[in-house]
Amino acid sequence: MRIAFLGLGAIGAPMAAHLAGRWHLTVYNRTARTAAEFATRHSAAVAAAPREAAEEADVVITCVPTSREVEAMLDGPEGLAAGLRRGALFLDCTSGDPASSRRIAARLAQQDVAFADAPVSGGTNGAEAGTLTIMVGGAPDTFRRAHPVLSAFGSRIEHMGPVGTGHAMKAINNALLAVNILAVGEGLAALVKAGVAPRTAVEVLNASSGRSFVSESLVPERVLTGQWPRTFRLALLEKDVGIARSLLGDVGVPGPVLELAGERLARARSELGDEADYIEAIRWIEHQADVQIRG
Ligand code: NDP
Repeated sequence: MRIAFLGLGAIGAPMAAHLAGRWHLTVYNRTARTAAEFATRHSAAVAAAPREAAEEADVVITCVPTSREVEAMLDGPEGLAAGLRRGALFLDCTSGDPASSRRIAARLAQQDVAFADAPVSGGTNGAEAGTLTIMVGGAPDTFRRAHPVLSAFGSRIEHMGPVGTGHAMKAINNALLAVNILAVGEGLAALVKAGVAPRTAVEVLNASSGRSFVSESLVPERVLTGQWPRTFRLALLEKDVGIARSLLGDVGVPGPVLELAGERLARARSELGDEADYIEAIRWIEHQADVQIRG
C-alpha cells in the first residue's frame, strides 16, 4: 500500500512516523525543509507539491490547522484533487469542521475517492506512543478500509457516524477541555490567593469530584512546575471552540458557556500570540489575578 501524508506539524510528524517503514510513505509539507528532515530520519519519499504526493497514493492523509487549509490543498493544478487516483481513500486527521468535511466528501465522490474525517485526541505524547483516540466520520465501508491505516497511530478508533461526525465529536471534546482549563485556572488562582498551598489545592481537588484531565495531568506536569512546553497551540484550541459553537448553533442548542469560553480564549490568544501553548491560558489567568500557581 502507498500512503501520502501531508502536514508534518507538532502532531502530524509523530503520526506519520508510525506509517514509515510499514508502508510506502510519501510526505509533503508546506515548508519543504521539514519534509526533507523527516525523510532523512524516517523511510519516506518527499513530494514537491500536493499533486505529486497524491499521484501514486492508495491512501492520502492530511493533518493541517483547519479545514480551510485542507480545501486549499485540494485546489489548483498542483493541488491534491489533480493527482488523486480513482478508488483512493482520503483521511482528514485535521481537527476540522463538519460542514467543510461534507463539502470535501461530495467533491471527492465525483472523482470516486472515498473520504472520512478522522481527527485525533491524545496529544503529541499519544501520537509518539501510537495510542491516539481517533474519531471517524464516514460510510461504514470507508471506516473498514481506514481502520488498519489508523491503527498505526491510534489505539481507540471509533466510528462516530456519517461524514462530519468525527469533526463534531472532536470539536465538542476540545470545547469541554477549553472550558475546563479556564475554570481550573480561575479556581486554583482563587484558592492560592485565599491562602491554600498550590500543591495541596491540586491534590485535594484530584481526590474530589471536581477533578479532571486538566487537574490530574496538565496542572501537575506544567502549571505547578512552571514548564510550558509548546505541544498544542492555543490558537488551535480557540479554533475548536469556534467549530463547537457553530455546531451548537446549527442544531439549535443554546451555548452561553461555550460562547464565553470562546471570547476568553480569543482574548488570551490576542495577548499571548499565535504560537502560545494552550496551557498558557492558565498563565494568562495567573497574570490577570496577580498570583502564581506553583508547587
Ligand atoms: P501545527 O501548527 O504544529 O502544524 C500545522 C501543519 O500544517 C504544519 O505542517 C504546517 O506547515 C501545515 N500548514 C499550515 N498551513 C498550511 C497551508 N496553508 N497549506 C499547507 N500546509 C499548511 O499544528 P498541529 O500539528 O499541532 O495540529 C494539526 C491539526 O491537528 C490541527 O487541526 C490541530 O487542531 C489538531 N490536533 C493537534 C494536537 C496537538 O497536540 N498538537 C492534538 C490533537 C489534534 P508548515 O510546517 O509549513 O508550517
